Amino acid sequence: QSAGPADTTGTSSIPGVKKIIAVGSGKGGVGKSTVAANLAVALAKTGAKVGLCDCDLYGPSVAMMFGSDERPMANDRDEIIPIEVDGIKLMSMGFLLEERSPVIVRGPMATRYTQQFLRQVEWGELDYLILDLPPGTGDIQLTIVQTVAVDGAVIVTTPQEVALIDARKAVSMFAKVNVRILGLIENMAWFECDHGTRYPIFGEGGGKREAEHLKVPLLAQIPIELPVRESGDQGRPIVGTPDAPSAAAEALRDAAQK
Ligand code: ADP
Repeated sequence: QSAGPADTTGTSSIPGVKKIIAVGSGKGGVGKSTVAANLAVALAKTGAKVGLCDCDLYGPSVAMMFGSDERPMANDRDEIIPIEVDGIKLMSMGFLLEERSPVIVRGPMATRYTQQFLRQVEWGELDYLILDLPPGTGDIQLTIVQTVAVDGAVIVTTPQEVALIDARKAVSMFAKVNVRILGLIENMAWFECDHGTRYPIFGEGGGKREAEHLKVPLLAQIPIELPVRESGDQGRPIVGTPDAPSAAAEALRDAAQK
């Protein structure tokens, strides 16, 4: 029986996986999954071996964002073989579900799925395993940190106050369970029109202020860009122009090395 949220004594690394990086957010809809997918793609472009595990059991989006509806098979050790798209190994509830069926999983089952996604998937040799967390600070996040040794967490937020308040809670949850915060990523930082004028739709400077307040780095600011949204919907997460997700991946790589 675990002794509480900060008990991570049962954790260990995943054999063959060098860095496990969690991408979380306080609030939903801030672009956490989009950022996680784009980070995975951008890291893979640098030649790194990358896996992306969609731990958002109730709102899985990795399958759709990578345009795959394959069904994973098991190997002879009864591990799930992840789906591979462009060399990135993917695992998501979306691969296990019938299309459009809701995920009806009670708490204990959610824990078991989460553990299985981390422990019983043939991740193989990876430089980075990116975990796309559910929004908020609930059971699944705690299960993750009690199951594997997470090397660092990135919190995605928009510059908007409601998102920042929740991002703060996510940061403090990770601090409580002794997971290092690699930094914040401010998504939807602004929209730039064709004439080059920037519109700070969700407010200005929120990410920077919050990062300073929390004493964590602001790893990147990603603007609202049509190609980022379109590529996600078309199942091909891209590294957009200007290349904000790439810059984010580079900052993340540096932070994770430290
Ligand atoms: P979350 O995982 O936080 O719930 P998503 O990644 O699903 O959020 O993003 C929510 C919506 O916003 C999606 O439709 C996605 O395509 C869009 N989106 C996210 N980031 C951007 C961006 N930088 N520019 C344009 N659209 C974005």
